[in-house]
Amino acid sequence: MIQTIVYLAPIVTMDPDRPRAEAFAVQGDRIVAVGTAAEVRAAVPDGTQEQRLDGVVLPGLIDAHLHMERAGLKALDYLSDTDGVDRYIEAMRDSFDDDGPVAPPFEDRVRALERVQPLFHALGFTGIVDPAVTIDEMRGYQEAHRRGALTMRTVAMPYLEIGSAAIPDVDAAIAHLDGTGVSTGFGDERLRIGPIKVYLDGEALKGQALLEEPWDAAGYRGEQRLSTGDFGRLVSWCAEHGWGVGTHAVGSAAVAIVAAAYEEAGEAVRERRFQFIHAYLEPSAESIASGARSGTIASLQPSIIWHNGAGLRRSLGARAERANPVRSWLDAGATVAFGSDGPFFAFDPRFLMWQAVTRRVAGEDEPLAASEAITVAEALAAYTTGAAVAALAEHHRGMIRPGYLADWALWADDPLAVPIDDLLHIPVRRTDVGGRTVHIQEPR
Ligand SMILES: [Zn+2]
Repeated sequence: MIQTIVYLAPIVTMDPDRPRAEAFAVQGDRIVAVGTAAEVRAAVPDGTQEQRLDGVVLPGLIDAHLHMERAGLKALDYLSDTDGVDRYIEAMRDSFDDDGPVAPPFEDRVRALERVQPLFHALGFTGIVDPAVTIDEMRGYQEAHRRGALTMRTVAMPYLEIGSAAIPDVDAAIAHLDGTGVSTGFGDERLRIGPIKVYLDGEALKGQALLEEPWDAAGYRGEQRLSTGDFGRLVSWCAEHGWGVGTHAVGSAAVAIVAAAYEEAGEAVRERRFQFIHAYLEPSAESIASGARSGTIASLQPSIIWHNGAGLRRSLGARAERANPVRSWLDAGATVAFGSDGPFFAFDPRFLMWQAVTRRVAGEDEPLAASEAITVAEALAAYTTGAAVAALAEHHRGMIRPGYLADWALWADDPLAVPIDDLLHIPVRRTDVGGRTVHIQEPR
């Protein structure tokens, strides 16, 4: 018989139908009841075991943009066996420019995942979307899953490096995708294939984001890595053949090209979780509205703005103020999913939520324009209900709700109730994935 257990604690459900609760019941890997203590007790057999939890329960967070396997390989390089998440956060901050090992032994890939998953569970994560998975990385995830070692629910976005020797052009990319018969959505709740990842423009701090208004007086507008025609052809092929597309598009012109191509792709966009990836530099109101209409996910990273904000101010002046306009995306009705781009950028979700609320950036006293700030509740939604859409899982993850997977975390305090600076320091005491405990905070 599958065991049922009732947990008693204040609960932030993220379920709009019942935002708060005081108990929930778990049977096997699912939540079977949520409500008042009396309601939950009435929903389970007499004599069901109860456990009172010291803290506040939240749905497990989902990082919609985390290079987890690379994060694990770097963890193997930088951590001793006993180092915990605080040391890991420091080590990754101090090794920003190190991409990690290029061609590690295969066994290291599984070890890397085993090493790093508990660190992310300790931050309250139960799921991630890995936004650029190479063939070797996919093998690593698959092997970890086969061994029962994949404790993090993972959506893996195949990375096609168009322009490389293996995939010289869009036709080669299409042939590659067409070659196996699987596509976006294939897999299970533990490991699933997401949309493909492609690049349309370059990186902002290198001045390569493709902008409508030039970077400088000479009229330089940035770097377009795929022609508009090729990109449109790839998007429409994917839409017709079961694939979703996540496109790295940082600057306004890149976002506009992506938005136009996605609008042509119809229902596939919503169904297969097409994404704007980053989209933080001057996306126009038209592009944002278009994305909201087509059902495109805005996959945004407060961490990148924290890191790049000062540099963008230096290169773009006042134009940098509205960078990463999360408020505008939300007000337009777009689905916003938060992620970190960890381990290369900061990945502590408490810190990223704090950034999205305060708009503070590294090395500057003045925050970026407050007009694009959001609330803690909105930031938390971007990490739960929003990111669950990016993970093709909004009907079973991202909320504490009957029928949903028992993915939850016990925070020491309520992030919605503490002063914003205190949010940074709330420990996560316990994390469960599918009813199984994957993190317990060490007693101090
Ligand atoms: Zn990334």
